Order: sequence, then C-alpha cells, then structure tokens
Amino acid sequence: MNEGMIPADLPLRNDLIGEEPYGAPQIDVPVCLNVNENPYPPSHAVVRSIEKRIREIAPTLNRYPDREHMELRQAFVDYLAKESQASLTTDQVWGANGSNEIMLQIFQAFGGPGRAVLGCDPTYSMYPEYARDTFTQWHTAPRNADFTLDVDRTIEAIRAIEPSIVMLTSPNNPTGTALPMTDLKRILDFCQNARVAGAADGVHPIVVVDEAYIEFRDPGTPSAATLVNTYANLAVSRTMSKAFAFAGARVGYVAASAGIINCLRIVRMPYHLSAVTQATALAGFDHTDDQLAQVGHLRELREQTAQWLREQTYKGEPLEVAPSQSNFLMFGGHFDDRGMIFDEMLRRGVLIRVVGPDGWLRVCMGTDDEMARFREALTASMHAVEEQTNQANQQ
Ligand SMILES: *Cc1c(COP(=O)(O)O)cnc(C)c1O
Repeated sequence: MNEGMIPADLPLRNDLIGEEPYGAPQIDVPVCLNVNENPYPPSHAVVRSIEKRIREIAPTLNRYPDREHMELRQAFVDYLAKESQASLTTDQVWGANGSNEIMLQIFQAFGGPGRAVLGCDPTYSMYPEYARDTFTQWHTAPRNADFTLDVDRTIEAIRAIEPSIVMLTSPNNPTGTALPMTDLKRILDFCQNARVAGAADGVHPIVVVDEAYIEFRDPGTPSAATLVNTYANLAVSRTMSKAFAFAGARVGYVAASAGIINCLRIVRMPYHLSAVTQATALAGFDHTDDQLAQVGHLRELREQTAQWLREQTYKGEPLEVAPSQSNFLMFGGHFDDRGMIFDEMLRRGVLIRVVGPDGWLRVCMGTDDEMARFREALTASMHAVEEQTNQANQQ
C-alpha cells in the first residue's frame, strides 16, 4: 500500500484534500510509552472468561447482535456504582467502539453545520477531527499557565461563541490536569441558561466531560458521573482502554441523562457494537479487580517518575512536570527542540510522544523495567542533544 497516495481524480470532499489520517506512529520499538495504554496484559482469569463468553455466542453469529446492548449497559451501571459511587440506570448509559465513537456520536447528534464546539486548549487532538468530520466549528478557550481550566474565560467564551457542546477533559490529555468539581459545576450551571447558536430559543448547550483516565485520579476524588442525576445537560464519557487495560477490545461508554442517550441512539450505526465486542467487554467486567489491579502501582510510578524528572536538568535548567492525575506525564517545558530529544529517545528504543505546547513531551507509565529504560534513555538523549548544541555553537 502506497501510504498517503490519494489519486487526484477521486471525488474526496474538498475540505479533506491534503488531510492525513490521524494517529500516533505505530512503530515497532522495544519500549512503547506513547499512547497511554496500561502496560499489563489481562490475567488468565480474564482470558478464560473471554474464551468462555465468545464460545457461548459464536453459534449465534448468524444473527445481528443486541442493538441496545442491554446486558453490557447493566455492566456499565454496576461498574460505575462500584468504581465511582454513581447510582444510574441502564437508560442513563450507552456503549460504543471506544470512547472515540461515543464522542463522534455526540458530535453527530449535537454538532453539525451552523453549530460550534468549545474545548480548552491544550487538549485532546482528536476533538478538532470529530468537529471537521461533522462540519462543526471547533473553538478553544485558553487554559491557565499551570494548565488548570480558566473558568472565567471559558464561561466568557461560552457566552460569545454560543456552542452546542462544551468539551471538558478530566484528567486532561496531554497535560494530566484534573478538573475540580466546583469548576465543573460553575460551567454546568452557566450552560443551563446559555444560548446555542443555530438552535431555537430555550435550547442550551450540553457539557461533555471526557474521563478517559479517571481511574488514575487521587483516591477520594469524585467522578463527574456522580452529577448525572443532578444535571440533565451533562454527559460523562469513559473508556475501557486506559486504566481498565482493554485498549484492544475497543469499548467506550457514556453516562448521561436518558434524554441525551436517546439523541445518541438516533445517530448510531445499526448494530454498531458487535456481539464479539459485547461478549469481550462483559468478560472484562467479570473481573474488574483483576483489570484494575495495577492502577495503584501505576499511580505510584507516576509520582516517582514526576519526582525524578523534576530532579533532572536540561541546558542547566531543571525540567518542569505538569501535575498529573492520569497515567502519563507532560514534562520538559523548555525543550527548545523537542523533536531532537524524541529522535534520540527513539534511537535508544524508547517511543514517547511529541504533543502539547512547544517545549514539552509526554510519556506514559510502563512496567518498572520500561520506566528504568525510559530514565536511562532520557538522560542519555538530553546529554546527546546538549553536546550537539555545544558543538554547533562552537563552529
Ligand atoms: C485515550 C483517550 C480516549 C480513549 O479513546 P478510546 O476510543 O476509548 O480508546 C478518549 N479521550 C482521551 C482524552 C484519550 O486520551
């Protein structure tokens, strides 16, 4: 396959000409710390459950799956009760192929021509793509210098832009920043009376909180899912891909008022969630403790790695580390050519991510071994780039 080649005589949409498929590079490297996966594979018990559940449904694969995926929605409800102390019913949850599909369904249902979405920069780089694909305008309000949400400016932007969707992310990607409940409530309260451009009077924006990394938050911190019964304009998106160690299963879900769920049901593909996917997800939920067994350890590793990074220097200045409640860290702050550091790391077999504001890089937590290799490779890479800069300056 000739990658990137698109014949000029194909009637590709005008606004997509010159666009590239999005995605982190999938490079075969010994240490992959670039896409925020959980590095620990499923336990034997989980693998056995997957085998058993798929064997059970295999003879029925001539039939379409349960379009409403009711058994799985009950499993989402049970998990949200256990993990987040949210008490919801099956008509308040909805699943899809990854939270990326959830988000796309949200844009399809609530965005569209004449509509706008507001996010808070820097944030997840997929949001502008869903906006493009659904002909929705993408706007951003800037965060504070420490990457926390600037609530006043966000509310000001909602007033000015009149979006139909306010996209918040907690913990945020790529910064790791959590969104305090008091800030979220201020935005939810404001949105209850805010206007939506391109919609009738009396229509108000919905607020989406993307909680892809929520299981990594500090213990005791509430999830926005606990507010779903109070705010009919709130949708909380979650995923099995990160802490839950099931990225390959492609399952995401959303907790929201039954009204919001019913809007998503209008735009979903018929039978969007395959019987195999539903069976696999149910097998994961048979063993939630197994799936989450390493979350505490990864959280500790994040704190240790943050501490270690703060003790390192680059060109005479200590590295900065953004406070994170997720399984990754954004660090550096003053990498004047972060691409060079990234390349040196890659040469040493460690793949991280060039993402976020200039001067920063992102790394996700791997196994203890992988993190040891990360530390070695970063030390050597920063040194190598410093040397190259010194030599260039001498010439
Ligand atoms: C990884 C990630 C997701 C999860 O995507 P899935 O489609 O569920 O794998 C969602 N939101 C953010 C911000 C992420 O970083």
